[in-house]
Amino acid sequence: MTKAGTIYLVGAGPGDRDLLTLRAARLIERTEVIVHDGLVSKDILAMARPDAQLISVAKNRARHTLPQENINALLIREAKAGRDVIRLKGGDPLIFGRGGEEAEDARAAGVPVEIVPGVSAANGAAAATQIALTHRDASSIVSFVAGQCKGLSDQDWSGLAGKGRTLVIYMGVKTAPQIAEKLMADGLAPDVPLAIVENAARTNMRVLRGPLAGLPDLVEAEQVKSPALIIIGEVTARDDHTLIKTAHAAAGTETAQ
Ligand code: SAH
Repeated sequence: MTKAGTIYLVGAGPGDRDLLTLRAARLIERTEVIVHDGLVSKDILAMARPDAQLISVAKNRARHTLPQENINALLIREAKAGRDVIRLKGGDPLIFGRGGEEAEDARAAGVPVEIVPGVSAANGAAAATQIALTHRDASSIVSFVAGQCKGLSDQDWSGLAGKGRTLVIYMGVKTAPQIAEKLMADGLAPDVPLAIVENAARTNMRVLRGPLAGLPDLVEAEQVKSPALIIIGEVTARDDHTLIKTAHAAAGTETAQ
């Protein structure tokens, strides 16, 4: 019997390839099969060896994402055929990345699986904008929630946002009106400050700010597109806004001094 390959669930970070871990970079450079989603930047895919097989499971307008069970089956099939395979995802595989499901299926199939963490969008956005997710004077709790998932209105977010707390919402662009409504219904003040970070840690990053009550209009007026994060809390009103341009420009340079 062929010795099974390993499935590597690898985080590609928010986009900029300098934010890959060394372990992720080494694996990308040597692995024969790479199954990636749409959030992984071209620069990162370009690091693959020339004969690597790159398989996209990206969502596009014409078709939905490959169903999760098909992706899991694909990974297992490749590994059982003796090939190492990378499942390469934006950010971190274990934060809204379905890495848990892929790892469970791989373990159930008896295939070795390893997980390589990545810089999650929240961490990438925080660094690029210099918005501190926690700050001794402003926030000692940070929560990550998904803004677009089954039964958004049934989810209990009460207590996750407000004084002394930071709430980071992934996948919240389309549901921005429901999100603002939900948080205000939970008692959050309409003037709580927020920032929307679109394309965080990429050369086309945009940062928009406003109060909670204005979130739906801001998304609409500025035509915010995915991928974007919504960060809610006092920490978004503390950073020096003039620094953002500098941080943004620096992210595009090759060397960090
Ligand atoms: N595993 C990923 C999250 C995948 S869910 C991670 O850890 O970052 C997809 C959502 O992540 C997007 O809808 C968006 O809300 C967020 N996201 C991913 N990359 C981003 C980026 N570069 N800038 C802003 N948000 C991003």
